[in-house]
Amino acid sequence: MNKTILLVIGISVGLTCLISTLFGFAGSAIIGTFWGWFWVTFLIKFVGFIVFNSYLIQRDSLSQQQIEVEALDKLSKFTIKLTCAYCQQYNTTPIQLNQKNTFKCESCNQVNGISMQFMATTLTSPIESVKIPIENSGSIEFKVT
Ligand SMILES: [Zn+2]
Repeated sequence: MNKTILLVIGISVGLTCLISTLFGFAGSAIIGTFWGWFWVTFLIKFVGFIVFNSYLIQRDSLSQQQIEVEALDKLSKFTIKLTCAYCQQYNTTPIQLNQKNTFKCESCNQVNGISMQFMATTLTSPIESVKIPIENSGSIEFKVT
């Protein structure tokens, strides 16, 4: 452990003891004993610290999730150029893969729906080279795609 962490822990424990002592004196002046009040205050502060800490951890993980959702949202947004179904005018519109998309034509003000189609294609097959022997010049390579 480094010095800063030790210092923070030291100050925290010191403060807790100080506050517990104060409550011990104040409380025992009214009712009960000094140590009774001391340990009750100590325990309350300790439990409070755990609750506060777990709250901080939860808040951090929530904001982390929020960031991930936003990043995903940005990634799923594309801008494409489409012709209006009513007047055939080109429009540039953002689309998102995870929702229904529409756009309003800039030319005729009609609202167009956007339908997306995906299809699978074969990948380009690797180039095969064929060697054909030619007299006097050794060989020549032909590439077949
Ligand atoms: Zn239009």
